[in-house]
Amino acid sequence: MILTVWLEIHVKLKTPTKLFCPCPNSQNDDDEPMTHICPICTWQPGALPALQPDAVTQAIRLWHVLHAIINPCSQRDRKSYFYPDLPMGYQITQFWEPILKQGSISYFLDANYTQTKTSSIKEAHLETDTGKMIHIGNKTYIDYNRAGTPLIEIVTWPDFSSADEVLAFLKHLQKILQRNDISDADMEKGQMRVDVNISVRKNDTDPLGTRVEYKNINSFRAIGRAITYEYELQSSALTEGTSWDQCTKRWDDLSGTASVLRSKENALDYRYQPEPDLPPLVLDTATIAQQKHNLVDLYEIITCMKDIRWLHKEYINLLLIDRASYVYAKELIDQGYEPKTVLKRMAGPLAAWANTHHATPWTTPISPAMLAQFIDFIKEKKLSDSLAKPLLDQRCAWWSRESLIATLPQSKTIDYTQLCHDIISSFPDQVAQFRSGKESVIMFLVWQGMKLSQWWADATILKEHLITILRAS
Ligand SMILES: [Zn+2]
Repeated sequence: MILTVWLEIHVKLKTPTKLFCPCPNSQNDDDEPMTHICPICTWQPGALPALQPDAVTQAIRLWHVLHAIINPCSQRDRKSYFYPDLPMGYQITQFWEPILKQGSISYFLDANYTQTKTSSIKEAHLETDTGKMIHIGNKTYIDYNRAGTPLIEIVTWPDFSSADEVLAFLKHLQKILQRNDISDADMEKGQMRVDVNISVRKNDTDPLGTRVEYKNINSFRAIGRAITYEYELQSSALTEGTSWDQCTKRWDDLSGTASVLRSKENALDYRYQPEPDLPPLVLDTATIAQQKHNLVDLYEIITCMKDIRWLHKEYINLLLIDRASYVYAKELIDQGYEPKTVLKRMAGPLAAWANTHHATPWTTPISPAMLAQFIDFIKEKKLSDSLAKPLLDQRCAWWSRESLIATLPQSKTIDYTQLCHDIISSFPDQVAQFRSGKESVIMFLVWQGMKLSQWWADATILKEHLITILRAS
């Protein structure tokens, strides 16, 4: 049995205001009900919508990361239905001319970033969200704080053949949205809600079977379970030779079952019509180009990092922690520093510091410029590799102190012979111990030598020199 799945993903955009009025678009779930409303978003008689530009900016940013075609002149349409959470009696969406068309997302199917897949996006439209119904006891309350907030609905092609693929895709999309500040995409808060269309057929060559749509699933686990459940249902119907109706279902994750919400519906039921109160949304190339700046293409980063053979997935994950870590690394990589060198330094003390302080490498006391200096010093053999880590550690620990690097001499050529003689004259007791056979004392002497050289010496070279001189004299 062949499974085919396609998705409609509703994403709450991160913008300061609602889509058509200046009311705040709060990202909090626990705001006092009915505090972010005005005559426009509650659709009082005579109120007219006025487009707020931030949601359009976010859609353009999404265009860049979805590699889609942007519609220079998209339209708004009314989708009519009656429900208490929809004060207008219709949703303003984009039915005929959506803002984005024909995109794609490449992502990895496994945690080790070995298998890849590219899934096609059919379109994405900008639309308004509804209010929220709150059921307490046998009463239902309505909160319009969410009514009119901007959503982008991303519609995929029937491109997925397993629940695992769907989940890998959605997790990657969620990261893209979060790292680019397009949406917080928190599924628990309903900031990313997924409609899953499921269709099973016997053979690859058969046309797609009757679809069943699961509405508004809001956890990855529930999406996986619902797909498996419906696949088994349709597979056994096909085996038994029975048919089923196209319908919309609600998934109940507690019982692990689904119930039919409504039977077959199509575009006609919504009486789509062009929105007469809003002009077409026209975008010029300058506005579009402006938003390309500073966007993160996670797939590109992972692919680039994967080419570095020794780079483990922990290093790659470091870059994926948040947008700031990526920006930090990119600042150095753009200056010509090797990605693996940058990541190696970031993955050590910087990541450890960030971890303990619940922060990111971006906020450590080591600025990108300072890390660049460290990397230069090591490359020019002014600082030994073995000491870079403790120095970075110390710098991170000495948060409030002056820059450790600033206290170091600006450049230094080490005269190892002179340094060895300095060590020998400063620590006669330990030198005598070494000469009488207690050779383990050498590490103490090397450490003192490192201090004398103000950490400029290379410990390995110093040790070799010191042993030679001690044995010769
Ligand atoms: Zn409003």
